[in-house]
Amino acid sequence: PTVRRVPLIAGNWKMNLDHLQAIAFVQKLAWTLKDANHDFSAVEVAVFPPFTDLRSVQTLVAADKLPLAFGGQDVSEHESGAFTGEISAAFLEALESRYVIVGHSERRTLHAETDEQVAGKVAAAIAHNIAPIICVGETAEDLETHGASAVPVAQLRAALSRVDSAADFVVAYEPVWAIGSGQAATPEQAEQVAAALRAVIAEVLGDDVAGKTRILYGGSVKSGNIAGFMREPNVDGALVGGASLDVNEFAAIVRYQ
Ligand code: PGA
Repeated sequence: PTVRRVPLIAGNWKMNLDHLQAIAFVQKLAWTLKDANHDFSAVEVAVFPPFTDLRSVQTLVAADKLPLAFGGQDVSEHESGAFTGEISAAFLEALESRYVIVGHSERRTLHAETDEQVAGKVAAAIAHNIAPIICVGETAEDLETHGASAVPVAQLRAALSRVDSAADFVVAYEPVWAIGSGQAATPEQAEQVAAALRAVIAEVLGDDVAGKTRILYGGSVKSGNIAGFMREPNVDGALVGGASLDVNEFAAIVRYQ
């Protein structure tokens, strides 16, 4: 059975734009997309600002009824308590976050996040009705030693260890060598790994979940290469870093068709 998966274009701002810049950015993004008559039910749009911006973005989105989703770039696997510097899924839920990025390669590398922690964060998000965007991807070294799919497949299997078939989640395939490098994967490479990831979802959670779950590609996506990825049957959107920080460029990615 063919299920229509609504494509998702997600902007990962990383540590860029303070709360005032965030307000200006989100307003301009909404105007730009509305001016272009963007159909938000055909291609969903989400932004992932720093935590300190989220309340401002939420207030603006609610006040102006903007058709934009937003969420955090990370979440704690703990419910509450003595975890200095951490942000709980409950806090993100209270701010109406639809999504949260989990297991981004910068968290795995710079903050030594393990597969177990990622699984805990995925479970915490789902318990608070937030769809985690589960990031997986191989390094250049992994690619050489194990091929493209082995590491992302293992990371996804671990991340899904505490998920049941009722859960809503998104997967982002982001080869580490393609992130911020200007050297994106080819659409064929992205499709091959996305298909392998969908097979993992089918194996762990069944064909229905696999059929409805969106798998994004991330890593040096820009307006000039997005269309190629979107033509692939198993790629359902993009997680965009650098190119999400320019309103016109990000809007052009959203309007890839
Ligand atoms: P990039 O980042 O688009 O700047 O390569 C993608 C990401 O890290 O999510």
